[in-house]
Amino acid sequence: MKRKFTCCAVFFVAGLSLHARSLPLRVVTTMSYLKYVAEQVGGDHVSVVALANPRQDPHYVTPTPRMNQIAYNADLFIEHGLNLDLWAKNVLDASGNPKIQPGSSGHLVATINVPVKELPTEVSRSWGDIHPQGNPHCWLDPFNIRIIAENVERRLIAVDPSNADAFARNYRAFIDRLDAAMFGEDLLKSVGPKAGDILTRKTRNDELIPWLQARHLTGRLGGWLAKAERLQGMPVITYHKTYVYFSERFGLNVIAELEDKPGIPPPPQRRDAVVEAARSSGVRVILNDNFYSREAADYVASKSDARVLLTYIDVGASPEVDTYEHLITYLVENILQAGR
Ligand SMILES: [Zn+2]
Repeated sequence: MKRKFTCCAVFFVAGLSLHARSLPLRVVTTMSYLKYVAEQVGGDHVSVVALANPRQDPHYVTPTPRMNQIAYNADLFIEHGLNLDLWAKNVLDASGNPKIQPGSSGHLVATINVPVKELPTEVSRSWGDIHPQGNPHCWLDPFNIRIIAENVERRLIAVDPSNADAFARNYRAFIDRLDAAMFGEDLLKSVGPKAGDILTRKTRNDELIPWLQARHLTGRLGGWLAKAERLQGMPVITYHKTYVYFSERFGLNVIAELEDKPGIPPPPQRRDAVVEAARSSGVRVILNDNFYSREAADYVASKSDARVLLTYIDVGASPEVDTYEHLITYLVENILQAGR
């Protein structure tokens, strides 16, 4: 009997020390795409919870006591920033967790260094009250995910330096996967070392196609960018200014938004103005994010040749967009299909 007890005690103590060594960093994110990025970079060394439901409008999330409790136990809190998830401040205030307050190493604004579009000027508030720091919907351009992933990698290393090598390795593998999805494996192999960085820079500077032509590599382009060649110049209408970054990257031409100003539902005269715009531009597709009413989009569709495409904008909003890569593939393929 005594021997049995000793044996159990040894297992118990061994179990405890093993647990202490391998306890993952507790990471909390506002949106689910940030959870996905943190998991790709953090791997086995993080346990990540996203606070917002990915089917919800990220501008308007109501903090709950459960969110505060999750934040209380966090080692690192990652928010999107750019005034999108302002509700995060309420969670941070109510969490009672000094480790994750703004300014400490346990708090990260993921979009630092992302080039922001539609920055309001002092004389104009024409972008509306919910985009006061410019358009925050930058995560729908995969090049901005490269920057966000680097921010996450650096912060994970700062908070948990003992796993720095793993974070650096995971980050590189994630970026390689994103580059393959963007340009295709074939082109990356043809360009050689640093292909993803070189091609990203060329694309951002609008130099990709002439650069590829000069090297007889045009036929090697694959991935999202090859598919999106058929999206170039396609006129679309969107409900909200959600697709400003996505459109720049993949060539859509957003001719109008149903919202007159971000955050303000379209009044009847606005709908009629958008009908006119849809007819004169030959619009075939209206992008309506899943959490907005379809009423205005259906009205415009009923009076033009356009059809309404229900869209998701966060990872996990539906089973088919279970990863960031699948979210972008879903958008590119469904817009192509709806625009035919
Ligand atoms: Zn917005």
